[in-house]
Amino acid sequence: VEAAEEFADRIVSEEMTAQLEQDMAAIAAGEKAYDEVTEASRELLSRVFDDLTESREAVGDHLQNSLKADKTLGPCPECGADLLVRKSRQGSYFVGCDGYPDCEYTLPLPSTGKPLILDETCEDHELRHVKMLAGRKTFVHGCPQCKADEADEQEDEVIGTCPDCGEEHGGDLAIKRLRSGSRLVGCTRYPDCDYSLPLPRRGEIEVTDETCEEHDLPHLRVHSGDEPWELGCPICNYREFTARQEGSELQAVEGIGEKTAAKLKDAGVDGVDELKSADPDDLASDVDGVGADTVRDWQAKAD
Ligand SMILES: [Zn+2]
Ligand SMILES: [Zn+2]
Ligand SMILES: [Zn+2]
Ligand SMILES: [Zn+2]
Repeated sequence: VEAAEEFADRIVSEEMTAQLEQDMAAIAAGEKAYDEVTEASRELLSRVFDDLTESREAVGDHLQNSLKADKTLGPCPECGADLLVRKSRQGSYFVGCDGYPDCEYTLPLPSTGKPLILDETCEDHELRHVKMLAGRKTFVHGCPQCKADEADEQEDEVIGTCPDCGEEHGGDLAIKRLRSGSRLVGCTRYPDCDYSLPLPRRGEIEVTDETCEEHDLPHLRVHSGDEPWELGCPICNYREFTARQEGSELQAVEGIGEKTAAKLKDAGVDGVDELKSADPDDLASDVDGVGADTVRDWQAKAD
């Protein structure tokens, strides 16, 4: 088993596997032949294979057990078999029962990130907590059964009229909590109307007395951390968010940083398409410290 553990350690050594993964992908895509992959990867592979032959059974058992342990949350409330993290055909993760297809019990998981099962266990459900790995957006989801129950218990809070179907069908906008733990402002006629606006995952959401005159919706305030966050009107907030995303699209062009992107945005250039179609002389006169040649240079690089 010692050899097996050493083997597992080596296989998860991240620096090595990143290169290996890249090489394997290149081989799979037909871009590289096995003997063309980097020497380091070949060395790693051959050492792994040596280890495998030496202790095949031990490695097999060890890996099988640790792979299963990595996916097992705890007992299924319906049949007692193991609940496991599974991946749907669409590529999203969820919790399913090892007794499937006899038992069809499932729980949703957040759509952001890759689930990691923690050692911490929910005392009520004997289920291990789940963390979602998503780079800087990594967060602890907690017990998936608790999250689903919280959503089932919480009533939708109506805050206004649905801009898509309110007039015609009487749909309302409501703050909803989904069983996966996400929150959103969505239409009460879902799934007939799928209008929705994102909300943050954390913090208590307060519906204030202030109203957005343009959208006739109340301003929202999110209580998390020390300072409450004034989210404001959920439609205006989403519009600003989308605009920021488009602004950052410009930063993909070589030579354009955050500040320049902001200046361009002030000059009415929100995205790469607008940049490409802009007149270099006009734009240069609108943006401080930028010459027409620089604009031409960006346009060439944006292609
Ligand atoms: Zn089950
Ligand atoms: Zn729980
Ligand atoms: Zn609607
Ligand atoms: Zn608004």
